[in-house]
This record gives sequence, C-alpha cells and structure tokens, in this order.
Amino acid sequence: MKFGTKAIHAGVEPDPSTGAIMTPIFQTSTYVQESPGKHKGYAYARGANPTRNQLQKNIAALENGKFGLCFSSGMGATDAVLRLLNPGDEVITSNDLYGGSYRLFTKVYERAGVKFHFIDLTNPENMLPRINKNTKLLWLETPSNPLMRIIDIQACVAIAKNHRIQVAVDNTFASPYLQNPLDLGADVVMHSVTKYLGGHSDVIMGALVVNDEQLYKDLAFIANSCGAVPGPQDSFLVLRGIKTLHLRMERHCFNGKKIAEYLRNHSKVGKVYWPGFEDHPNHTVAKKQMKDFGGMLSFTLKDDRLEKAITFMENVELFSLAESLGGVESLINHPASMTHASIPKEERLKNGLSDSLIRLSVGVEDVEDLIQDLENTLAKV
Ligand SMILES: *Cc1c(COP(=O)(O)O)cnc(C)c1O
Repeated sequence: MKFGTKAIHAGVEPDPSTGAIMTPIFQTSTYVQESPGKHKGYAYARGANPTRNQLQKNIAALENGKFGLCFSSGMGATDAVLRLLNPGDEVITSNDLYGGSYRLFTKVYERAGVKFHFIDLTNPENMLPRINKNTKLLWLETPSNPLMRIIDIQACVAIAKNHRIQVAVDNTFASPYLQNPLDLGADVVMHSVTKYLGGHSDVIMGALVVNDEQLYKDLAFIANSCGAVPGPQDSFLVLRGIKTLHLRMERHCFNGKKIAEYLRNHSKVGKVYWPGFEDHPNHTVAKKQMKDFGGMLSFTLKDDRLEKAITFMENVELFSLAESLGGVESLINHPASMTHASIPKEERLKNGLSDSLIRLSVGVEDVEDLIQDLENTLAKV
C-alpha cells in the first residue's frame, strides 16, 4: 500500500459491533472479564485500549515498522527509550537538539548516572572518538531544530552497528511522509505526535515505532509500568488528523519552499536555514533520505539586533507567535527564549543558535497570503 492509502486505512477497521467507519472512542478504564483472567485481550486501559491500539498500528504502518506504541507526550516516548539504559551507560547525540530532549538528558538522566556526548553529527565520523564499551545508544534528530541541519542516518547507523549501539531517530520534523528511519537501519523511531501527525494543534502525544519484537516488548513493559499512556479521545483526534497527513505535508512542503525562496531574495533578510537550498551544507543528504524538504525553516534579519527580531515577531499577523509546529496554521517562534530556553546561552551560541534567530512552521494556508504578511512585516523592521 502507498502512503496516502495507509494514512487512511492502515490498522483501522470498521467497528465490529456497529459497522461504524470511524474508530470509536473507547472511553473506559477497565473491561469486564468472563471469569478471572479470561478476557478479550483488554484487562485495564493503562495496558491497552482499542482506540489507542488502532492508532498504534496505523503509525507503525506509516513508518514501515512492525510495532507502534503511543505515549502521553513526545517527551514521554523519549523517556521510555532512555529507561532502557542503566547507570554507567553512555549516549551519543547531536549538539543541535530539541530543547526538551536536551533538558531530559542533562537534568534527569545525567542525575541517574547516564552520560551524554553532544557532538556535531553532520559528520558521522565525529562520533568515533566518543565510542567506548559503555556506549549503548545513538540519539539522532534530523532535520534538527531549529537550524535545519541534516544528519546522514544511514552513515550513522553503519558506524553504530559496528559497535552494537542502538539507534533512535526523532523523526518529528520530517514526519513519516518525508522520511522513514527504520528503512535506513534505525532501531527506534520517535515522534512528537503533537506536531505533524496530529496536525491540528489540539493534542499532546508521542509515539515509538520498532521492528524488533523483544525491543517492542521491553518498551511496552515500560509504557505499562511507568504509565505515560495517552487517552482514547486524544487517540481518536490523531487517527482523524493522520487521514490527511499526506495532503497536509504536500502543502507544507510547497508553501515552505515558496517562503524559503521569498525570504532568501529579500534585502532585509540575513541567513535562511532550509535544507532544500542547493547550497545548504547537507542538501545532498537531505535529498537522499527525504522525499521533500518540509515546512520548517529558520532565518535571521540582516540587521541582526534582537529588538528587530522581536519587532518582527510582534507585528506579523498570520503567523501566530507560539511554541510548537506542524499544525495547519502557520506559527512563528523565537527559539532563544521559547523552545530552546532550557539550553544554556553559552551552549546555544556555540552551536550557532543566535538570539536573533526566528523559526517558522509554515502552515497550509494560501501561500500568497503568508508571503504578503511577511512582506508587510519586513517593511516595519
Ligand atoms: C515537540 C518536540 C518534542 C517533544 O514532544 P512533546 O509532544 O511536546 O512532548 C520532541 N522532539 C521534537 C523535535 C519536537 O519538536
């Protein structure tokens, strides 16, 4: 089955008791048993819920994976992967990471005795000097947030497999429509479902997809033991959102390209970070591992003063100033004070994330209106 067909049909069946075409919201905490331990696969809803199960199957299919697990947030999903580790284990990850992941790694897991190496993985060989017998996990995020750097998943997997290191990829920015890390050899794909998969800015949720059955069982054990599971209402909303994922992504990509090109040609704009540009340092890798370049981009103003960037963000109208991304409506974000505020300033600057950087999540509105809005706003700075 191709992607759009899977988005609509995979894992989803009409309700057997009524024929309802839409998956019902099984709003229940428990299930009645015929005799002790004798039930239809559902005992208690932390462990399993039919609405959530259909969603998990659907997301797994979109990532060409065998097993899916949903969590109450993207961070809940990431946390479940890290719970596979033991004190003394080491993790290699990139230095251009979602702020919440950085916070979880450094403020929660370092305290639990896990060591993290933050390095520039746009050159995969940079990880070689950090690998030792304790290295257990490689955590990749590509495209990266907010600088849109691209990491070569296949090249990283090749090195990791040589050293028996598991590879997890945060695929939130690409969505399964643009990139499928399991096909490139990764062991785990993580999504903040809150973003493109949900797509309508109305749900917080996370997901993991794997192929290995033992790994799935270990993660399902963690999900049930630790309990960060999503409810059936949210599962329904995401099932509904995913039915248009392919249509939304096509428009996100189309609008993203138009806006990246518009900004790049504007005299008041400094640098535009978008992997679709042929002179983007990782363009070749992006072209190889992604189907298109997505609707996320960042830029600076030529006049690089922070107050100019703030004036821009206060005056723009169709782009709402808000955290998050991947919804139908366009958003604008100031990484230094919003999504990436949990990264120390020194670290941020060292990694190229300046105070004046502006990030756009380009929505699916008519791009002419979005460009007009940017044009009007640029005239004011
Ligand atoms: C939002 C986000 C997360 C965290 O997901 P939540 O659903 O907010 O917990 C992780 N990684 C990336 C790249 C994100 O954008």
